[in-house]
Amino acid sequence: MILRILFFAVFGWLLLSWARGRARRARVMPPVAREAQAARASVPMKVCAHCGILLPEPEALRSGDKHYCCAEHRRAGSGQ
Ligand SMILES: [Zn+2]
Repeated sequence: MILRILFFAVFGWLLLSWARGRARRARVMPPVAREAQAARASVPMKVCAHCGILLPEPEALRSGDKHYCCAEHRRAGSGQ
């Protein structure tokens, strides 16, 4: 009996702290920002070897082990 009470107490506390953390995160971050963060988290980002701009890997142009933001920069190479 005492074990059952203890179990429900721990379970209730876990549920409460989870709900509180969820509510706090929802308040701090608007849904749009959360979606943007999720998108950033799921798509690896690459830095253009020429101008240093950050872009999603699917949009980056590869040349060897380097990534570029556009064909011009790929042609220009990593020289500034
Ligand atoms: Zn570039």
